[in-house]
Amino acid sequence: MRRRVILLGPPGSGKGTIAVKLQKELGLHHVSSGHMLRREVDNGSTVGRRAKLFLDNGELVPDDVVLELMNTWLSSPNAEEGFVLDGFPRNLAQAKVLDEWLRGSPIERVILFDSPESVTVDRIIGRRTCPKCGRVYQLPTLAPGKDGVCDECGTSLVQREDDQEPVVRKRYDIYRQETEPLTAYYQQQGKLTVVDATRPLEQRLSAATAAVRE
Ligand code: ADP
Repeated sequence: MRRRVILLGPPGSGKGTIAVKLQKELGLHHVSSGHMLRREVDNGSTVGRRAKLFLDNGELVPDDVVLELMNTWLSSPNAEEGFVLDGFPRNLAQAKVLDEWLRGSPIERVILFDSPESVTVDRIIGRRTCPKCGRVYQLPTLAPGKDGVCDECGTSLVQREDDQEPVVRKRYDIYRQETEPLTAYYQQQGKLTVVDATRPLEQRLSAATAAVRE
């Protein structure tokens, strides 16, 4: 299914979990800007060195850094097979550049996972991430088969630096200021579907799958 989809929502709204499921069920590539950035940091690349401080502080990485990474991916042959963008765009400037890039084959659906701050914070504190493949687990509801080990690739799971409570609250505020205006932007384009992110995973997944298939 060659769909181009964006997942929007505050940190901890479960975008990454749903994106992985959509990848498995519908064969869409999962493109996580946060995962790409963390990989650059781990590799010690020039981009990674520039991005690290912003990531650790829970602030948005400058647009030019993110746009360069995303442009590289979106120009690859994989992009033609359909994708789910998770974490990008994060502000109006990025959304407008994305629209320019995709003029011939635009985004078809934007799914907003709506979630209050209290739920976000609780979820993130229980979150564990695989530093190798980027898969996200949620304790205790979505735990790996073996304690602390990724089901996918066997790597030891970690708690992200920016998943400490004060940083999470800051990320939530930044989401409200910078990212939330995108919902009106995509609503005007007639592309927005809102899913209540506090619903059980199965319900969120079937709502998201139906929205992608629309
Ligand atoms: P979450 O959605 O849980 O906040 P992400 O993995 O999407 O986590 O993002 C983690 C961090 O990566 C953000 O706090 C920000 O520093 C950086 N980041 C990810 N995507 C973008 C983006 N599109 N623009 C700017 N910074 C980004």
